[in-house]
Amino acid sequence: MAHSEPVERHKIGRLGWLRAMVLGANDGILSTSSLLVGVIASNPSRNIVLVTGISGLIAGAMSMGAGEYVSVSSQSDSESAELHLEQQELLQDWDAEVNELTRIYMNRGLEKPLAREVATRLMEHNALEAHARDELNISELTAAKPFQAAIASALSFSLGGIVPVLVVLLVPLSMLHWVLSITSLIELAVLGVVGAKAGNAKPLRASLRVVCWGAATMAATSFIGKLFNAPIMD
Ligand SMILES: [Zn+2]
Repeated sequence: MAHSEPVERHKIGRLGWLRAMVLGANDGILSTSSLLVGVIASNPSRNIVLVTGISGLIAGAMSMGAGEYVSVSSQSDSESAELHLEQQELLQDWDAEVNELTRIYMNRGLEKPLAREVATRLMEHNALEAHARDELNISELTAAKPFQAAIASALSFSLGGIVPVLVVLLVPLSMLHWVLSITSLIELAVLGVVGAKAGNAKPLRASLRVVCWGAATMAATSFIGKLFNAPIMD
């Protein structure tokens, strides 16, 4: 039994990771392909379509990475501040901190003498670690890592977004609008199933939801593109 909790938590951590990658790839596919579908509907040259796709891919990946970096950094800052405060409290009033941890273990179902014993032993071993984990919910696994998060976010967006760009490279301009829409919807459907499995949700419903959003988004950008429809330039 002693080992069951960390193993379980590790599994949840890994699934959370997979789910984040799937969401990033979803973003990459949907934003790159809707951008492309909109531009294609305005009848541009092939060069413009390609530049749009690559720029959209790079802009999206960088902005996802930057957003993730900023958000995880501020989480990391607030975690450090909390740990610093906890360290001060441990230096100032050890006994109050033992009582605090004892109460936490009692709330989790231990009898008072045992809770006090566990709190004392864990604090002898590593007081800050014990309080970080059981009072503040900061563990090695959840500790915020801004740079890794930024890379993962940019990478997953790129993995999704590169597919529509490859479609632009491979498919003739005249068929691009439909091929792009259909392949993107199929990718979204597949990722919807993967994401749902990772999060233990119902695959069909999750898939349908993301496909509907995808279709609506591409219809919207396609409409905008048609408003600006110009004569073919190449
Ligand atoms: Zn504490």
